[in-house]
Amino acid sequence: MERTLVILKPGTVQRGLIGEVTSRLEKKGLFLVGLKMQWLDDQILSEHYSHLKDKPFFGLLKKAMSSCPVVLMCWEGKDAVSVVRTLIGPTNGRLAPAGTIRGDYSMSTQENIIHASDSTENAEIEINRFFKKEELFDYQFKLIDSIYASDEK
Ligand code: UDP
Ligand code: MG
Repeated sequence: MERTLVILKPGTVQRGLIGEVTSRLEKKGLFLVGLKMQWLDDQILSEHYSHLKDKPFFGLLKKAMSSCPVVLMCWEGKDAVSVVRTLIGPTNGRLAPAGTIRGDYSMSTQENIIHASDSTENAEIEINRFFKKEELFDYQFKLIDSIYASDEK
């Protein structure tokens, strides 16, 4: 099983979509192993978005991401990183297919509802960036046999 980092962005908090977006991840069959609300500062956002530091929108993006607290989540499941990326859809909400989270809730590239790790390497780095070890929970997933075949887990 794999873990991935999800951020529900300020627009999701302000628009009252936390429940709807979280519900999609739950209904898919992913297991929630970490959850908290946090106000992200410039330092952590500069780290998190370091791959975009030379882009003209870097400042705007950081300003938007620090405009109100966000919801940080860690989800677990088989191939969780790629499964969540498929669920959220491509970056630009206007181009994201209907049925994806961004496709259904976003009209923007920047204001695109949700962040999710894009590789297993980055997932590990991002989970460690936003969660302390004691904030992540190991517990029995009681419905796991209804979600996976016995040779899939
Ligand atoms: N972003 C933006 N303008 C762009 C590209 C990206 O404002 O032209 C923002 C957008 O919020 C995106 C984030 O920067 O989610 C991170 O960009 P990335 O390319 O990593 O896209 P993602 O992995 O979120 O799909
Ligand atoms: Mg990305």
